Order: sequence, then C-alpha cells, then structure tokens
Amino acid sequence: MCGITGYIGYREAYPIIINGLKRLEYRGYDSAGLVLYNNDEIKLVKTKGKVSDLEKKIQENTDTSGTIGFGHTRWATHGVPNDVNSHPHYSESENLVIIHNGIIENYDTIKKALIERGYTFKSDTDTEVLINLIEEIKKKHKVKLGKAVQLALNEVVGAYAITVFDKEKPDEFVVARLGSPIAIGIGEDNKEFFIASDASPFIEYTKNAIYLEDGEMAIIKRDREIRVRNIKDDALVKYDVLELKLSLDQIEKGGFDHFMLKEIYEQPKAITDTFRGRMLPNEGIIKMQGIDDHKQKFLNANRIIIVACGTSWHAGLVAEYLFEDIARIPVEVEYGSEFRYRNPIITENDVVIAISQSGETADTLAAVKMAKEKGAFVYGVCNVVGSSIARETNAGSYTHAGPEIGVASTKAFTTQITVLTLMALKLGLEKGSISKTEFHQYLIEMGLIPDKVENLLAIDDKVKEIASIYKDATNFLYLGRGFNFPVALEGALKLKEISYIHAEGYPAAEMKHGPIALIDENMPIVVIATKKGHYDKVVSNIQEIKSRNGKIIAVVTEGDTTVKEIADHVIEIPETEEALTPLLTTIPLQLLSYHIAVMLGRNVDQPRNLAKSVTVE
Ligand code: GLU
Repeated sequence: MCGITGYIGYREAYPIIINGLKRLEYRGYDSAGLVLYNNDEIKLVKTKGKVSDLEKKIQENTDTSGTIGFGHTRWATHGVPNDVNSHPHYSESENLVIIHNGIIENYDTIKKALIERGYTFKSDTDTEVLINLIEEIKKKHKVKLGKAVQLALNEVVGAYAITVFDKEKPDEFVVARLGSPIAIGIGEDNKEFFIASDASPFIEYTKNAIYLEDGEMAIIKRDREIRVRNIKDDALVKYDVLELKLSLDQIEKGGFDHFMLKEIYEQPKAITDTFRGRMLPNEGIIKMQGIDDHKQKFLNANRIIIVACGTSWHAGLVAEYLFEDIARIPVEVEYGSEFRYRNPIITENDVVIAISQSGETADTLAAVKMAKEKGAFVYGVCNVVGSSIARETNAGSYTHAGPEIGVASTKAFTTQITVLTLMALKLGLEKGSISKTEFHQYLIEMGLIPDKVENLLAIDDKVKEIASIYKDATNFLYLGRGFNFPVALEGALKLKEISYIHAEGYPAAEMKHGPIALIDENMPIVVIATKKGHYDKVVSNIQEIKSRNGKIIAVVTEGDTTVKEIADHVIEIPETEEALTPLLTTIPLQLLSYHIAVMLGRNVDQPRNLAKSVTVE
C-alpha cells in the first residue's frame, strides 16, 4: 500500500532514494519521508504531502550526504496523514529507524503493553509500535538487530514490508516481508544493494534482483553477500537471483499492461486487507471500532440512508440487500447529488452511511454535511485515510484497498462491499436477526472469498475470447436479480466508462417492461444467474432472451448444467453464500469491460471525460 526504497553502497544515497520515491508514488502519496546516515548522524526528514514536498523540505536545510538510507511514500492506514504519522519512525531511544508498508493487526494490544512498560508514542501509527517492540526485544535479549526483528515479527499479526536501521550497526539494514513486496537489487560484486517495493527505483543500476518470499527477511550489509532467513525459525534460505527483463513502465504496473488490470488482480489481497484484524472467526466476532463505539445508534436506527455516487452507489445498493436481509434494518440508497437538493426528511434516528473511494466526492461530502446538520449520525466508508468525508463523518470504516489509480473503480468496489458485508453481519448478530451459527458460517465463507477470487481470475483468457466476439457491439444489456442486480448495474457502468459502448443494467425481471424490445441477434446480454438467487426465475428470463435471438453471456455457479444448454457462453464462479456472490460475480464483468476496451484501443486507465475523484458538483 505504500512505496519503500533504500540504498547501501558507495554512491550518494539521496538522489537514488528521492528518484525512487517518485517512481513509487503511484503506490501511495499522502506523505513521504526518508532517512540518511553519515558521520555518526541520522538525518530524518518527513512530511505530509507528495515526494515533491519532501524534496522541497530537504532542499531548505538538510545535508544530504551519505551512502546509506531509505525512504517511504505513505498510504495511511492507522493515523491521519500528517508530518508526525509519516514514515520513517524512530524507536524511543532514536537509535532504530523503520519504514513499513502494511498493517500490524495486533498493534493495539502490543502498544498498551509497551505503554505499561514505560514506552511513549509520538504517532498514531501501528508502525511506531513495531519499532518499539523491536527495540524492547533487542535490549531485553541483548541481541543484534536482525535477531530482534525476527523475534518481534513472530509476535505480530498482520502484513508488512519493513526496513529497519540501527545506529549502532550503521553499515547494514534489515528488511522483511509478509504480504507486501520487497525486491532487493544486487550491484556488481556485492558493492551496493538497493531495496524497493518494486524494481522501478533501481532498474537503471542493476538488473539482478531477489524478490523476498512471504515470511522471509534479509540482512543487507555493505560489501557482503546477502543472507536471507526464514522469519519463523531463523533458518537460512536459499534464494534465486533473477534477471529483470521488464521496462520501467511495466514494473510500475507490476508487469500488467494497465493499472486497471493490476487492480483487478489485486482484489484477493485487497479484500483480505479489508477484513484483516476485523473478522475474527475463532473468537466468533467482527471487530469494527466505528460500530462498537456507536452501537446503539445503529441498533436503534429507524433506517439507514446510504449516500454515494457512481460505483460507490452500486456498492450502496448491494448494501441495501445486505442490511435488510441480514440485519433487518430498512435501507434507502440515494445519489449524493439528488439527496442533497431534495430537502430530504432526516431525523436523529437515521443513520447515514456515506460511501466514497476517495473520500472527496463533492456531492457525497455535501450530503454528509447536510445530514449532520439535520442531526443524523453519519458513518463513512472511504478508502483514503484522512480524506474530507472520513474527517467530516461521526465515525467510519476504511476499506484499506490501497491506492486505486485506474479511473474505473474495481478493487474499491469489492472492498466497499466487503466492509458493508462485515457491518451487516456484525449488526445482524447484535440484533439477533441472524443466529450465531449463521454468523459463523458467513465468516467462514467470507474467509474463503479471497482464494475464490484468485481462482476465478483464471477465467481471464476465456473472458478475453468472449470480449473478442462482442467487441464491436454497439449496445449491451446486463441483467441480474437480488444481490446481483447492483452488480449488473456496475457491469454496465464499467463497460460504458472504459469502452464507450452503450450499456444498460436492469433487474432481470424488469426486462419485460421495456428493454426486451431492444433484443435482436446483435444484442449481447450478460446475465448473472447464480444458483441461489432466484435461479429459476432468471433461467426463465434467459429463455425469453433466447426466443428473441439475443446473445447470452451467462455468469453461473460452478457445475451449472441448465443455463449451459441455453446460453451462448457461460462463465463459472465458485459457490458461496448468496449474499457474498457480488464479490465473485463482479470479477468477470470487470475483465469483460477491460478486454473490450483494450481491443477497441481505448485509454483504459484514463478514459475520456472522466476523473478519478469527482470533486466538483
Ligand atoms: N500502517 C502504516 C501507516 O498507516 C503503513 C501504511 C502504508 O503501507 O503506507 O502508517
């Protein structure tokens, strides 16, 4: 979720780090910072804002000499973006310095224990907790940095890529990874080493690199061969040095042709990051601070009003089904722009949920302000930490999807649905509208979703083939029912946004009330026909399309035989709880629009007329 880069060798480290950070800025850009070491002195500079802001700050009064150092661009998860929360972070003694990408789930418990033992904290981050834990272990066990890092990492739960420096051992740093990437560039004769979240910062210096595997750490010493160890048992690991063949542009996109495709493929990880630390099946609970702190507001709510725009509005529609079905709370879903100008009736017993990836959507933000003025309790579901909506709302939950660069939203949508599902389940259990057994079953199924999405991505080639058949169509229809009606709307929106083909999403049964007139042999119709959601009714709808010679692309549950006989193409998704199917059915529709757009030569990541975050009304 953030960018990490560092250098140790014989060159000046600063230019390598600052240029590396610029290349990594796509990974997160709410704050930036770096540390250099020279002449017994640690030089640490950090700031809220972009790498260019950091550069300015450094130019003002920092001596940038030094041949070892590392830097970070932050994508805040714990603590708003400000100077103090920016990385690097010092340990209490200021002897150790860390940069971190990821989330330490059990930071709160560790922090409390460290405070009891006299530690103080300057920032709100989980990262500062980790560096103090490392320091404490180092002192207590009288061990070297590498060992202290290894022992500390065995105490933390979560995801990380970290780099740690110790003033007492200024010719080395330690890196480790679990769930977030670390590439190590190896210079000639081990005379210099580079580290980075991806190889882009060092591609012009060396083509030889090691990619740490999850659960591995490395001690990188000046002029010495790298040693890679297993974090769990400290055993030495044999590693391969790869020869990099990718171009700079390809590296930034993780080898994908577009950010959108990269983000589609990031969904298993993004969904995991969203429920990380929140969904605790063994304890039989979902932990969400925002709800725990205001439980009565939700439990006593007359209704929930969801306000959002675009894709987030579709996530809101999925939430309507979720909250009504699972938590038995009435829900209304509103476009921010309509709601705010309609003089809506809002009371103190209403809970308003505002959904926005950027947290800056102007109409949603205005709706939030209005709802607050009218006395409603307002809850935010945003991706960007510290964004305007996140600050303006009374409480909220972040989606932790990581930066989304492609204008067409993909992982932001599925992670919004993930948060909203967790909320509905938590409230359902509190209200008693679902039993403990049902709740537990949902948690188990939810835990399987990332793997199911991962497996589902294997259909990419098949979807590409379907895309090549229909890429020249001028209209598309998307149909779904129940939980998958909003997915049909989202599928149509995705196609419109990036391929400029006209598409409409409709509830499958409504087709008869109008759109059926459009159907002829030139009309591709994407139908979501998963097993549990009114399956028989949807099958009848598919028959109706077939009778009018429409071309049917059906998204079905694995093993389906009925639809297979009628449809022109079927895309199978793994079985899951009906309420969770949107997290799966969305994936092939994202891929379909992506491939069609690419085949038509569209600018997929920056489609015409659109902007990533709509900050105008
Ligand atoms: N959890 C850390 C923070 O909020 C790291 C976030 C990142 O990956 O940038 O500071």
